[in-house]
Amino acid sequence: SVRFDPAGLRADFPILDQQVNGRDLVYLDNAATTQKPESVIAAIDGYYRADNSNVHRGAHALADRATVAFEAARERVSGFINSPLAKQVIWTRGTTESINLVAQSWGRQNLGPGDKVLVSVLEHHANIVPWQLICAETGAEVVPIPVTDAGDIDLEAFHQLLDDRVKLVAVNQVSNALGTVNPVRRIIDSAHAVGARVMLDGAQAVTHFAIDVQALDCDFYAFSGHKLFGPTGIGVLWGKEELLDAMPPFMGGGEMIDVVSFSGTTFNTLPFKFEAGTPNIAGAIGLAAAIEYFASIDLEAASVHEQMLLQHTLDLAGGIDGLRRIGQPRESVGIFSFVLDGVPASDLGMLLDQQGIAVRTGHHCTQPLMARFGLSGTVRASYSIYNTTEDVDRLFEGIKKAQRLFA
Ligand code: PMP
Repeated sequence: SVRFDPAGLRADFPILDQQVNGRDLVYLDNAATTQKPESVIAAIDGYYRADNSNVHRGAHALADRATVAFEAARERVSGFINSPLAKQVIWTRGTTESINLVAQSWGRQNLGPGDKVLVSVLEHHANIVPWQLICAETGAEVVPIPVTDAGDIDLEAFHQLLDDRVKLVAVNQVSNALGTVNPVRRIIDSAHAVGARVMLDGAQAVTHFAIDVQALDCDFYAFSGHKLFGPTGIGVLWGKEELLDAMPPFMGGGEMIDVVSFSGTTFNTLPFKFEAGTPNIAGAIGLAAAIEYFASIDLEAASVHEQMLLQHTLDLAGGIDGLRRIGQPRESVGIFSFVLDGVPASDLGMLLDQQGIAVRTGHHCTQPLMARFGLSGTVRASYSIYNTTEDVDRLFEGIKKAQRLFA
C-alpha cells in the first residue's frame, strides 16, 4: 500500500526522535546521507543474528540462506531500476566506486589519445577525478560542460562540444550542490548521436524519482544505498549487458574467477566478474529493505510535498536581507544552497548546529562548481520525505538568530 504522511513517516526513523543541544533535532542534511527506517535496521540486525555466512561458497544452511537473501537483494535492485536482467546490477561500495569501476575498466579499454570525456561543471568530485585519472593514463582529455548562472547545464555549449572524439559523457541526474534536475534524456540522445556513451551519476536522483534505466537509455548508472535510506558501504553499478560483458575485471580475487592457474586465469561471468572478494552482504540486504520501504511511499505525493517545502523555503528566504540562493535551476529537487552576507558558511553551520539544526556547509565536493560561482562554499539544506514545514521554519528562525549574533 502506498502512503505519504511526513509527520507519520518520521516515526519510522528512530534517529529523528532526539534532542541536539537542547532542541528537537531538525535534520536537513539528506543530500549527504538519509536516515534509516526501523525496517532497514531490523533487516541488518536480523541477518547478523540469524543468517550470517559467506555467500556462493559453503554447502550449508546458513550459506544458502545468506546467498538467497543476497541474490534476492540484487533482484530487488534490478526491479527498482527496471534493469532487463539482474546480472547487470553490480554491487559496489557506492557511487564513487561504481564510477571508478567504469573509468578503470571501460575507460582503459576505450579511451586513447585525442579522445574526450565530457563532464559537467555541476559534477561531484566522484564524477570528475576518476575521469582525470584514467585520461592522464590513456592520453584522453576531460572537457568541462559549462553551467549557466541559473545552475543548469548549458545545453547549447554542450551540443557545440559534441563531436566524434567524444567517447563518454558523464553527468549527474540531480546536482547534490544546487538540486538541479538535469535533462538527461536529451543529453543521452545527443551523446548517442555522435557515438558517445553516457554514464549517469544517480546518487541524488534515486531518492526523488522512479528510475528506469531502459527508458533513460543510459549506458551506465551509479547510485549509493545510503542516500536511499539504506546502509553505507553498499552501492550499485548498472550497465548495458554488452558493455559489461566486454569490459575487463576491475579487481582480481576470489568470486570473480572461473579457473585460476599460473598458466592463465579465466574470469567468472556477470555480475561476479566485477565482484572480487567477500561482498557487503548485510549492506545488500539492508539496501533491499530500504527499497521495499521506499516502494511503500507515494512518490508523487512526496514530490508535491518536497516542492511545497522548497517553495516555503524560497518564500522565507525572500524575507532575509543579504541571503542569496545559489542557482535558480529550471527544475530542482528539495535542495537549497545559499550564502548569507557577513556570515561565513561554516560559522552559520555551527550556529545552526547549536540550535539543533543539521545542514551541510562547504564546497559539497563540487569545487569547480563553487569556482564557477566565485564561492568557496555554501550552506545547503536538503529535504527528504520526513521533513516538515516546521523544520523549514526552524531553519529560518536559526538563520535570523545567527544573523543577529553577527550583526
Ligand atoms: N555523486 C553525487 C551527485 C553525490 O551527491 C555523491 C555523494 N555526496 C556522490 C556522487 C558520491 O557518493 P558516495 O560518497 O556514496 O560514493
